[in-house]
Amino acid sequence: MHTFLRGAPDVQLAWLRERGYPDATLLALHNACAQACFFCAGPGTTGVPDSERTPLAAARSQLRGRPEGVTRLLVGGNEPTLHPEFDTLLAEAGPAGFSRVELMTNGARLREAATRWARLGVAEVVVPLYSADAVTHDAIVGTRAWHEVADGLDASRAAGISARVHTLLLRENLAGLAALADLVRARWGSRLGVALLRDKGSFGHGRSAPPFGELVAALAGIPEPSRPVGIGTPDCLPTHQEEPALVAELYFRTQARRRGRGCVGCSSATCAGLVSGYEHDGVALSAP
Ligand code: SF4
Repeated sequence: MHTFLRGAPDVQLAWLRERGYPDATLLALHNACAQACFFCAGPGTTGVPDSERTPLAAARSQLRGRPEGVTRLLVGGNEPTLHPEFDTLLAEAGPAGFSRVELMTNGARLREAATRWARLGVAEVVVPLYSADAVTHDAIVGTRAWHEVADGLDASRAAGISARVHTLLLRENLAGLAALADLVRARWGSRLGVALLRDKGSFGHGRSAPPFGELVAALAGIPEPSRPVGIGTPDCLPTHQEEPALVAELYFRTQARRRGRGCVGCSSATCAGLVSGYEHDGVALSAP
C-alpha cells in the first residue's frame, strides 16, 4: 500500500501494471480535514499540523515525474482540496502533461469550485455520501455537510465533470442503502459504490459494522438498475459487476485483506478477501 501511495510516479506505474490497473500517477496531498467522520478522525487526519502538510516542492516533483505516456492524474489524500496550493497544483498538472484529473474529495468545496476546477482539467470527482438523508450523513461525518456535498455534485455535473459517489456499509445507513443508490442514479447519473468498514482500532467497529449476512441481504434487496458496485468488496457480496472509480478502487483495495473462516472451499480466484474486523458470521460462503 505504502509503495503505491508514497511512491514516485515510475514506482506507482510499475505497481499499477503489475496488478493489471490502467496507467496513472497519484498525487496524494496530506492536509488537515475539516470533517470529523467517526471512522477516520484523529491526529493523522483532522489534526494534521501545517508543518506536516505535503510540501509544495514534493507535490510539484510528483507532477514533474510523470512517466512518458501517462496522462491520467489521480488526486487524493486528506483532504486534498483544503491544501493551500491545491489550485496551483491543478493549474500545473496540464502543463506537466496530464490531460485528465480524477479527484477524490469529501465534496465540501465542489459547490464553489467545480466550474473552475473543470477548466483546470478535473474530469471526474469521487465523493463519499453516507445517506440520502441529511441528518444521517451529517451525524456520520460530524458536521453539517449533506446539502453542501449534494449541491457540489450538482455543480460538478453542470460543469461537465463526471460525479462518482461511494459509501461505507454501516449500521447507521444500511436501512437507507436502496434510497441512496436510487438517489445517486437519478440525480448524478452514476452507480453507487460500496465498501466495507475496516477495523482501525480507533473506534467501536462492532457498533457500526453490520454483520456480513446483513450486508448480503441489503445488497441482494436492491434491484437493478440501482444495485451498487463493490469497491474492493469480497466476491461473495452481491454487487453489480462494473469498474468502480479508479482512485476509490485503489484506496479501498490497498487496505489489508485476508481470507476468513467462511472462505474455506471458496473457488474464487479473484477475491481479495475481507478487511480487518470482518468474518462471515460463521456461515461458509463462496462466490457465485
Ligand atoms: S468466501 Fe470467497 S468470495 Fe467470499 S470473501 Fe471468502 S474468498 Fe472471497
